[in-house]
Amino acid sequence: MADKDCIFCKIAAGQIPCTKIYEDENVLAFLDIGPLSEGHTLVIPKEHSSKIHNCSVEAISAVAAVLPKITAAVASTMGADGYNVLCNNGRAAGQLVEHLHFHIIPRKTNDGVFTQWPAFKYPQGRIEKLAVEIRAKL
Ligand code: 5GP
Ligand code: ZN
Repeated sequence: MADKDCIFCKIAAGQIPCTKIYEDENVLAFLDIGPLSEGHTLVIPKEHSSKIHNCSVEAISAVAAVLPKITAAVASTMGADGYNVLCNNGRAAGQLVEHLHFHIIPRKTNDGVFTQWPAFKYPQGRIEKLAVEIRAKL
């Protein structure tokens, strides 16, 4: 169901214009107005949900079904060396628009788009403990 205050619901309903690149019954893809690189695309389920963990299996499946062809078209058009598919969930993770969306960000070698990947090493025993806790919640 649509959220009346949601900008992406309004785009999905055609009430706010977008530069559309793909549409079917359940999914819409359009160019981001604030791109990180040329061709930066947003893919959304039309059904409103804010995050992956509260979206329906049907909605996420519909997105997954078309991501391969949309990423292929975007990357090929942009002559990209690679691309990121990114989904920010929650304000702490950088989500500003609270309608689930997947960024497709075309990348060129050494383009400087993301310069940090702050990886670290777990202290002894921590990785196994976390896995036990996460598995218990599945
Ligand atoms: P988030 O930070 O929520 O993952 O990303 C939201 C994205 O939506 C941003 O990259 C922003 O540029 C894009 N965006 C926000 N409003 C609009 C809009 O009205 N039209 C389009 N095409 N993109 C939007
Ligand atoms: Zn919405």
